[in-house]
Amino acid sequence: MKITEVTTYRVPPRWMFVKIETDEGVAGWGEPVIEGKARTVETAVHELAVYIMGQDPSRINDLWQVMYRGGFYRGGAILMSAIAGIDQALWDIKGKVLGVPVYQLLGGLVRDRMKTYSWVGGDRPGDIIANINTMREAGIDTFKMNGTEELRIVDNARAVDAAVARIAGIREAFGTDIEFGIDFHGRVAAPMAKVLLRELEPFRPLFVEEPVLAEQAEYYPRLADSTSIPLAAGERMFSRFEFKHVFERGGIAIVQPDLSHAGGITECLRIAGMAEAYDIALAPHCPLGPVALAACLQIDFVSHNAVLQEQSMGIHYNKGAELLDYVTNPEDFRLEQGYIAPLPKPGLGVDMDEDRIIAASRHAPDWRNPLWRHPDGSVAEW
Ligand SMILES: [Mg+2]
Repeated sequence: MKITEVTTYRVPPRWMFVKIETDEGVAGWGEPVIEGKARTVETAVHELAVYIMGQDPSRINDLWQVMYRGGFYRGGAILMSAIAGIDQALWDIKGKVLGVPVYQLLGGLVRDRMKTYSWVGGDRPGDIIANINTMREAGIDTFKMNGTEELRIVDNARAVDAAVARIAGIREAFGTDIEFGIDFHGRVAAPMAKVLLRELEPFRPLFVEEPVLAEQAEYYPRLADSTSIPLAAGERMFSRFEFKHVFERGGIAIVQPDLSHAGGITECLRIAGMAEAYDIALAPHCPLGPVALAACLQIDFVSHNAVLQEQSMGIHYNKGAELLDYVTNPEDFRLEQGYIAPLPKPGLGVDMDEDRIIAASRHAPDWRNPLWRHPDGSVAEW
């Protein structure tokens, strides 16, 4: 079997799919994207396609190494996302050829269903209580929300009070009937992270995500020493070679590699295994589309340390398309009490609606995150 075609489709809301075709008629799908840099990743996918065209798609381990090591320069958001999508598609092909879901090829299930959580509240956490009430009606009881809006390196008591009041209001409204993580989203610098973690501790969130930016990871162990809240991070780390430093330094309780950013299934399986050796839980990052989610689930279902799966149904970014708009087997993604069952179909378990993808790709927006500024006019982290 040989790879004959690599085709990319950028689609609303901010996603990209890659289809890899073979001379035997089996095709696989992947989702290589960096949100806001889809065109750059698309170019990288086509540059990497030169290495895999005409090759045997079953040799995933070798093709991964060729894509990673073959070009001398490696790593980073763009290249690792391009590899990730291609890697997902290769696993999809392998599963379809052998007639089994990918998790069977990875050793089989370690659990019967996987707990998911949902976003509430959007970029500027506003009407969260009403949002939670609506989602609870759909059986969802675990959430994530932004912790703050813009926050300066050192900010005032009013900003701290606003963040604390919001979280206090949620616990007051729902008690422990729901659980939630709080995403600092890289908006919080080390001095305020220490303050906020202390102030938020009484409300016992499941975790605080990106308490500081990944490039400030040396603060993770120090912040962890200052709080009992489990700290989570990983969406802006791209290979096991990056994760190893974080694991070695300590401080992270939950690791959140993104299956579409960190080298795909091949790499994230290894990251998950490394995390298990450090007693670190796994909660793959996934505010993306259906192939990314399907890839995450393959890892969740074979990783003992997987605790939570992010998924983007109803997320504030999904303007113009929803998670399951591009699949023809949405029933396989049904949530029951917030849990999702193993996807039963061979490969990644997602049947893509190619006609719809092609039609949607004709009006793909160039999604960009907003550029925020502080009151003094300086750039704020979003
Ligand atoms: Mg995040």
